[in-house]
Amino acid sequence: MSNPIIKVEQLSCRYGAREVFAQLDLDAAQGEVLALLGPNGAGKSTLLRCLARLQQPQLGKIWLNNQPLWQIKQRLAAQQIAFAPQNHGLNSDLTVEQMLLLGRTPHRGWLLPMSKADRAIVEQLLERFNLAQYRRQSLAELSGGEQRRVIIARALAQQPSILLLDEPTAHLDLKYQLEIMQLVSELAHSDGVCVILTLHDLNQASLCADRIALLAHGRLQAVGPPNSVLRSELIEAAYDVPVQLIEHPSHGLPLVMLQPQPKERSWLV
Ligand code: ADP
Ligand code: MG
Repeated sequence: MSNPIIKVEQLSCRYGAREVFAQLDLDAAQGEVLALLGPNGAGKSTLLRCLARLQQPQLGKIWLNNQPLWQIKQRLAAQQIAFAPQNHGLNSDLTVEQMLLLGRTPHRGWLLPMSKADRAIVEQLLERFNLAQYRRQSLAELSGGEQRRVIIARALAQQPSILLLDEPTAHLDLKYQLEIMQLVSELAHSDGVCVILTLHDLNQASLCADRIALLAHGRLQAVGPPNSVLRSELIEAAYDVPVQLIEHPSHGLPLVMLQPQPKERSWLV
């Protein structure tokens, strides 16, 4: 891999006495899509929050461009790292347009007025995400899928080198799921952004990630290209369900299918 833009070493996180994960080593480079997978509660969001500098790990180090993340000025870090959380400001009264303009803050500071360039970036994103018609509505007035698009568009307004997306395809219908996967791939492979995202759908990860990191039982279980991580023994141990792997008929990438046992299959008969 080329030089990592972000790197974590021996990271441990806990809430009170409860350890979420420990001894986690991971890095990601510009131009790659890294998917974090793992069961509910594995610590995927916690890890993203650490990378976004929203949460300080109890142990370990995070490096951004070979500099300790916590020693970089917040605004400089925010110019490089954008985070689209799962649920963000859903009760906010801000309009969609105002939310996206807020994404420009790290580049212009709080006090400077919005420049033409800032507005042009926001306009492009409103169009790209099909949000122009909602620009004067607040997030609370949008559907779950529309809210997700706003949250992702806001992160992109930051024009980051590292884009952190927490379950970006949740609540989206198939069309927007595919669009997000294509967008993620384009951002990484054409624009050189390092995209780190969490996904519930293992098959989406297979189709859109260059590498997958599998987090379960408090440890990183595997990291590597989809065909090295999406293996039945690893998935079964991480998620505690029987699965079967097949190949995508066009791409040859691994696809994970649930493998219900006969007694669990009564609904299929
Ligand atoms: P994931 O995103 O993989 O589902 P999370 O990072 O959200 O996992 O959570 C990991 C564990 O930490 C879960 O057991 C969760 O309940 C716990 N947790 C998450 N956030 C907090 C918090 N703010 N306070 C206490 N426990 C938390
Ligand atoms: Mg989560």
